[in-house]
Amino acid sequence: MLSLITIMRKNPRKAGLIPGEVVLTFDDGPNLKDNVTPRLLDVLDQHSVKAGFCVVGEQVHQHPDVVSRMYDSGHLLINHTQRHEHPFRQSYETLLNEILECDQEIAAALGIPDYRSEFFRAPFGIVTFAVRRVTRNLKMTPVLLSHYGWDTRVGPHNCQPIVDLLIQNAKRHQGGMFVFHDGSLVPPKVLEDDWRKSVENRSWVPDAVDEVITELKKHGLHFVLPGQSAVQSVDVMKAAA
Ligand SMILES: [Zn+2]
Repeated sequence: MLSLITIMRKNPRKAGLIPGEVVLTFDDGPNLKDNVTPRLLDVLDQHSVKAGFCVVGEQVHQHPDVVSRMYDSGHLLINHTQRHEHPFRQSYETLLNEILECDQEIAAALGIPDYRSEFFRAPFGIVTFAVRRVTRNLKMTPVLLSHYGWDTRVGPHNCQPIVDLLIQNAKRHQGGMFVFHDGSLVPPKVLEDDWRKSVENRSWVPDAVDEVITELKKHGLHFVLPGQSAVQSVDVMKAAA
């Protein structure tokens, strides 16, 4: 199993960034429970920060207006498949359909019939041979991470150490590519009856992002979108190998 330490030691440069650059990505939304994703968009607007949203087709179908707002606000929409199934046993054809269906949902939400996503992130970050082949054939760019913070394992009551660690890592490594989950599609290890303690409760994410952006801006870091680093020529797939 990949350990937290191994992931945390990854160099942000391997995600195609130069020192000082931070990319924020948000996975598995949009999510309107507790109004999470709209509140998150409000926070990003307040800070004039653009981010990448790895959206899931079935969620897009439920909340097309939120996806429209992301797009109109200048955020990057990243295809995260239609159903967010584990890619481990998915064939080329299944994965291809998952990606194309998600793009159709985005196209419908935006009212742009020929919309095609340029960027892709595999569910659970699992890059199989099929993932590599499909994304290459569709000419999609994989969106990587330099740090994974295990935010799906915390709820509002115990999120602060994760947030602090992200801030520390970004300062120590002079940036990086980070992820929060505004949606909840990762099955929890333990079912929690108390919603205030549930890891499926993402209501803490907008406030956490407010804190992260405020702290990192104070530290002189700045926010860019995937693919908009000052390093434009980095082959991110090669860098991740
Ligand atoms: Zn995901």
